[in-house]
Amino acid sequence: MKFAILVPDGAADRPVERHGGMTPLEAANTPNMDFVAENGICGTALTVPEDMPAGSDVANFSLLGYDPRRYYCGRGPLEAASMGVRLSPEEVAFRCNLVTARDGRLEDYSAGHIPSEEARKLILFLQEKLGDNHTCFHPGVGYRHLLVLRGLHYLESRCVPPHDVVGREIEEVLPEGPGEERLRALMRLSHRLLCDHEVNRSREARGMMPANMIWPWGQGKAPQLPTLREKYGLTGAVITAVDLVKGMGLLAGMEVVEVPGATGYYDTDYRAKGAYAVDSLRRLDLVYVHVEAPDEAGHEGNWEAKVEALERFDRHIIGAVLDATVQLSDRLCILLAPDHRTPLEVRTHVHDPVPFAIYSPGMKPDAVKSFSEKAAAEGRFQAIPAWKLLDILAGREDGAP
Ligand SMILES: [Zn+2]
Repeated sequence: MKFAILVPDGAADRPVERHGGMTPLEAANTPNMDFVAENGICGTALTVPEDMPAGSDVANFSLLGYDPRRYYCGRGPLEAASMGVRLSPEEVAFRCNLVTARDGRLEDYSAGHIPSEEARKLILFLQEKLGDNHTCFHPGVGYRHLLVLRGLHYLESRCVPPHDVVGREIEEVLPEGPGEERLRALMRLSHRLLCDHEVNRSREARGMMPANMIWPWGQGKAPQLPTLREKYGLTGAVITAVDLVKGMGLLAGMEVVEVPGATGYYDTDYRAKGAYAVDSLRRLDLVYVHVEAPDEAGHEGNWEAKVEALERFDRHIIGAVLDATVQLSDRLCILLAPDHRTPLEVRTHVHDPVPFAIYSPGMKPDAVKSFSEKAAAEGRFQAIPAWKLLDILAGREDGAP
């Protein structure tokens, strides 16, 4: 048996009044999604526990079969995994933004989207000046880097995400609680060291924002996840443009398949992702395909872009995988589910349950005939924890209430 988990990020929505109360899933022409729903079993699933943030990190954790309450570890360790940084049991990994501070305020959470090559010089400079046995900086992509500190008390530090406090007085939003002294000292020292760095002098001379401070947040320790092989005896690959999802796949013992042209935005190459998904299924037992574009459209409140992203996902990814079933020697099971809703009228993630469909050839379908929020509400399963879906897919549980 082979398995495909297909995840259009943020695809589910709420009825949009100016489009006759329809959702993008209802309006889009998605014959392959409808085929999966009509010939499979459907329902709704909770991907994000109520008391956790409705983010793709928590939600994709659920869809990969891990109870986020038990295993979710924060963003830092996932990004560490995707960067190939191994954490010892006493180490805590923070996402470390390069930011712009001016006149005591946080001016930009991304230092004007500083490019990787410039950022790398600054992070390596900080490592040289501030790095020691307890402190390690690792350069990442763009403004997104990693700070690893030794000491589990840092798990209790309260750090705010910088994108939530742009424009605020920095003194008011510094880390608090255990470890605050060291974290604050590192931020202050980084400011002193970076202000005068030649990279920043050159950026300012070109009218760009200086990357003159670090901002640690989103910390956690490496989670002890049972791998896909340990849980189900399966090999697998993950296809995504998003580092957090890559990190999850690696921690689950999966291969990360890099697809040329996968951008994480509207221009992502759907056709290539579909082809690589099929190729992965030939080699391995399971493939997890995550596409970010519908979520981006949701954040922008862009109806047309969201509908188009769904139609392209339908044609080039689900279509390619369904076409491949004839060539695969094994039976193929498909799980189709968005990680969360990003409603166009809210423009951010919400906790509402998501629709899902599970299909494998020859299974006895339920009454649902198309794939949408409304149709799925008539399906066999309602509001089940999403981390159980993989158990159902793998035949470990019939999911009966
Ligand atoms: Zn999003």
